[in-house]
Amino acid sequence: MLSIRSIFRPHIRLNSITLSSLSYSSSSAAAIQAEKTIKGGPRNDWTREEIKDVYDSPLLDLLFHGAQVHRYAHNFREVQQCTLLSIKTGGCSEDCSYCPQSSRYDTGVKAQRLMTKETVMEAAKRAKEAGSTRFCMGAAWRDTIGRKTNFNQILDYVKDIRDLGMEVCCTLGMLEKQQATELKKAGLTAYNHNLDTSREYYPNIITTRSYDERLETLQHVREAGINVCSGGIIGLGEAEEDRVGLLHTLATLPTHPESVPINALVSVKGTPLQEQKPVEIWEMIRMIGTARIVMPKAMVRLSAGRVRFSMSEQALCFLAGANSIFTGEKLLTTPNNDYDADQLMFKVLGLIPKAPSFSGEEDKACEAEQRQEAVSSSG
Ligand code: SF4
Repeated sequence: MLSIRSIFRPHIRLNSITLSSLSYSSSSAAAIQAEKTIKGGPRNDWTREEIKDVYDSPLLDLLFHGAQVHRYAHNFREVQQCTLLSIKTGGCSEDCSYCPQSSRYDTGVKAQRLMTKETVMEAAKRAKEAGSTRFCMGAAWRDTIGRKTNFNQILDYVKDIRDLGMEVCCTLGMLEKQQATELKKAGLTAYNHNLDTSREYYPNIITTRSYDERLETLQHVREAGINVCSGGIIGLGEAEEDRVGLLHTLATLPTHPESVPINALVSVKGTPLQEQKPVEIWEMIRMIGTARIVMPKAMVRLSAGRVRFSMSEQALCFLAGANSIFTGEKLLTTPNNDYDADQLMFKVLGLIPKAPSFSGEEDKACEAEQRQEAVSSSG
C-alpha cells in the first residue's frame, strides 16, 4: 500500500501516470497548503487570507487534501469517543443565544444542583463500559468564582474518574489561573472553552462576556499544562468569513488546541436562534477539512448536530479529517446519536476506538512549573 510520503515521491508510477503529477496537478489552496503542512508540520503563522483560500477550495479537493493530512498526522481509522455529561444543568446567567440552559430564555430546561458524586461516577463507568475513553463534565455557569464547595467537589470527581483510567475534561465557564492549576493537580486532561464564532460576529451571539475573556481562559488552561479543547458552532447566522475567522483565531493560538469541536447548531425552541435553518453536511465538511489542514495534529471533533447526519454523511466528515465524536444519548441537554447506531457505524466504516492517551502530560506539567518559576523569579 502506498504511504502518504510516497505520494510525494516523483518516481512512483501507477498505470503509467506519475502519482506526484496527480498530486501537483491540483493547484487549489487546499492542495498547496496540505502539501506544505505535510512537509513542514503544524504552524501558527497562518494569515486569514491563507485560511480563507483553503476554505474556499473546491469541496472535493478540500476533502481529498484534508484526508491526506489526516492520514499523515493520525491513524485514520482511530476515532476518539468522548462522553459529555451535564453535571449542573440550567439556570445559567449568561446570554449565549444558542443555549437552552440560559436562565434568560424560556426553553423548559429546569435549573438543577450539581450532581452527586455517586451519579457522576455511575455515568462515567457506564461510558467506559460503552467504549468511551474521555469523560467530559459540563456545568452551566458563567465561571466558578464564588463556588468553592462545588469546585472542590468537581476536583474530587476529576481525581476519581481519572482513577478509572479515563481522560477527563471539564467545561465550567471562565477559569482563573489558580483554578486551572488546581484542576491540573487533580489530573484533568483537557478543558473545553469554545470561542463559538469569529471575533467580529461574537457580539451578535453573546454579550455577557467578551471574546478576550474567552481567550484569557484558554491562556490559563494552556499555562497550567492542561490540553485546550476549543472550537465553535456553525449555523448561528454567521457569514462564511466568520467561520474562517474562527479557524484563524484557533490556528494562530500559541499552540493549536489539542481538540477542536466543530458543532452544527441544534436550534432549540425558546432561544433567540430557534428559527435558524439547519446546517448542511457540505458546510460541516468544509469546516472539518479546513480545520484538519490548518491544525493537523488536533483532534477534530464532529460534535453537536451529528444526530441529524446519516452514516454516509458522517463518513464524509471522517474522510475530511474528523477523528473524534461525542457518544451517549445526550449532549448536555440536546439529543445525541444512538449507541447501537454508533457501534454499527464503526463496524461498517472500519473505524476503531482510540485508546486514552496520557503521554506528554508530565512534560506539560513540567513546562508549566518552569513557566511558573520563571514568572516568580522575574517578579
Ligand atoms: S453556553 Fe454555557 S455559558 Fe452560555 S448560557 Fe449556556 S451554559 Fe451558560
